[in-house]
Amino acid sequence: MSDSLRRDIASRSVPQTDAGLIAIFETIVGRANVSTGEKATRRYRTGFRSGSGKALAVVKPGSLVEQWKVLAACVKANVIVIPQASNTGLTGGSTPDGDNYDRDVVIVSTARLKKIYVISGGSEVICLPGATLDQLERTLKPLGREPHSVIGSSCIGASVFGGVCNNSGGTLVHRGPAYTELAAFARVDPDGALRFVNHLGVCLGDQPEAALARLDRGEFAEGDIQHGLGAASDTNYARHVRDIDADTPARYNADPQRLYEASGSAGKLMAFALRLDTFPIETGAKVFYIGANRPSELTGLRRQILSGFAHLPISGEYMHRDAFNIAEKYGKDTFLMIDRFGTRRLPTFFNLKGSWDNLFERFGFLPAHLTDRVLQAISLLFRSHLPTRIKEFRDRFEHHLLLKVSASGADEARDFLARYFEQASGDYFECSDEEGRKAFLHRFVTAGAVVRYRAVHSARVEDIVALDIALRRNELDWLEHLPDELEQAIELKLYYGHFLCHVFHQDYIIKRGYDCLELEHKMWNLLDKRGAEYPAEHNVGHLYPAKPALKSFYEKLDPCNCFNPGIGHTSKFAMYRDAEG
Ligand SMILES: Cc1cc2nc3c(=O)[nH]c(=O)nc-3n(C[C@H](O)[C@H](O)[C@H](O)COP(=O)(O)OP(=O)(O)OC[C@H]3O[C@@H](n4cnc5c(N)ncnc54)[C@H](O)[C@@H]3O)c2cc1C
Repeated sequence: MSDSLRRDIASRSVPQTDAGLIAIFETIVGRANVSTGEKATRRYRTGFRSGSGKALAVVKPGSLVEQWKVLAACVKANVIVIPQASNTGLTGGSTPDGDNYDRDVVIVSTARLKKIYVISGGSEVICLPGATLDQLERTLKPLGREPHSVIGSSCIGASVFGGVCNNSGGTLVHRGPAYTELAAFARVDPDGALRFVNHLGVCLGDQPEAALARLDRGEFAEGDIQHGLGAASDTNYARHVRDIDADTPARYNADPQRLYEASGSAGKLMAFALRLDTFPIETGAKVFYIGANRPSELTGLRRQILSGFAHLPISGEYMHRDAFNIAEKYGKDTFLMIDRFGTRRLPTFFNLKGSWDNLFERFGFLPAHLTDRVLQAISLLFRSHLPTRIKEFRDRFEHHLLLKVSASGADEARDFLARYFEQASGDYFECSDEEGRKAFLHRFVTAGAVVRYRAVHSARVEDIVALDIALRRNELDWLEHLPDELEQAIELKLYYGHFLCHVFHQDYIIKRGYDCLELEHKMWNLLDKRGAEYPAEHNVGHLYPAKPALKSFYEKLDPCNCFNPGIGHTSKFAMYRDAEG
């Protein structure tokens, strides 16, 4: 972009006092849905595991037209917009990062926009920006269908949009990252003009507000829906993941093949509606619990399953024994809550916890992380929550694999495992339905358990270094070996992940006094040498640098850098300048 065009755009933005802009927001969405001030906005400005920064306001539109008007007001006032859905991202991608931006930041929280429209006889859905995966699952269940993704945070309210905008992965081996080419969104063109783009494949007319109002009310007939305009899921992934001799990872956030408009956009545009495929529910799935002390036995298992099984498994989740133990102790309350009350109440609980954290923080004499400490203490009063056979495997084996297969694939898996473990030193058992459900729930609470550990042991823990990595599909040596220099800085290493996809979450709890950033950079060097890609599925947020393909995708989506600037260590300043001014 030429300097004169940049100057031209800068001169066209309307200077707006903070109070004036907030008054405009209040007119659009109502006073109750605009939050300002540190305490009221804290929950939206702080990430689940990392990330926090300053924001002028948090605005919560109640309709798509309000969302559009809020965005238009932001663009006119030349403020930064950070779109936020459920804010469960782990890399600070939906929260501001510090206060070194050149413009005010406005967080647009879409959590109130929860509608879902089932179309095409149930084989597709159109979701509005706040719809959650859990809600989608409940909507589709009576139709015998299920959503594209199951991720660890489905149970704590992660949204459909967060998944697509992050290319989130999750457990399902068949389906790969959340992806669609069918979206309605707004972008800001190089000349600074706000533009509505309807690539949803639904005829809604040319006027943005009228189109969005129709979309919001679901005023479209099957005849308005066009087919064959683009993919509404990654239809190649099953074939791709089976290619175990390929020298590249199966999936990772910067993979150019999965960056398309809203998909992978990480807030570099504002999406209003996404159209996604749905899938038949797997009934009668079976879970096999596998233990091994030799990593090579799981390597062989993965390669033979992916290359030889006629029925690709539904999922294959890995946990190291240390991750198992931390999840058992520090994820127990979340486990018990989901087990007793289901997933529906969990987002409410997390909101409540946010309010308590806010309240307790006001009293400086109280210990830090009081809510976490109290919940942790209460959880210890409850009896052991894990099935006996699973705990026995924990005592016998260091490496754990939860293999879930469809009813039609159960015999194949059963026969294979019986033969495989005649030779191998590991072992397995077929779970009852309850054991299978609890084994997966235990795996899912691990990411949150690490955060709890840091809170409860804040006196001796510097921080968490969390890596989210994708190994090459042909990688045999998947368990890393760290040099002593790094080992001595680490209190605990937690390895867990999506084993068949070769996507691993490696969380390191760093001892107090060590430089986490320096350690992380050393780990990146080791990963580079192994040909790994990172992040795999949590997206760059403010933790990882965006690789060139991702960076240029962001610049193409958002040439003026008005959406979520700084993501992937890119410039935080207007027009991607190097410095403010
Ligand atoms: C316990 C736990 C387990 C997890 N397990 C997994 C897992 O198994 N797999 C996985 O991939 N992730 C996992 N995650 C990470 C996280 O939940 C996912 O990244 C999720 O998809 C984020 O959804 P969200 O609704 O919270 O989105 P947010 O965090 O609110 O946003 C995510 C990104 O999308 C952008 N965005 C949101 N709405 C819009 C919009 N309307 N327009 C444009 N951009 C938008 C945001 O700006 C941000 O960049 C886990 C997190 C936790 C806490």
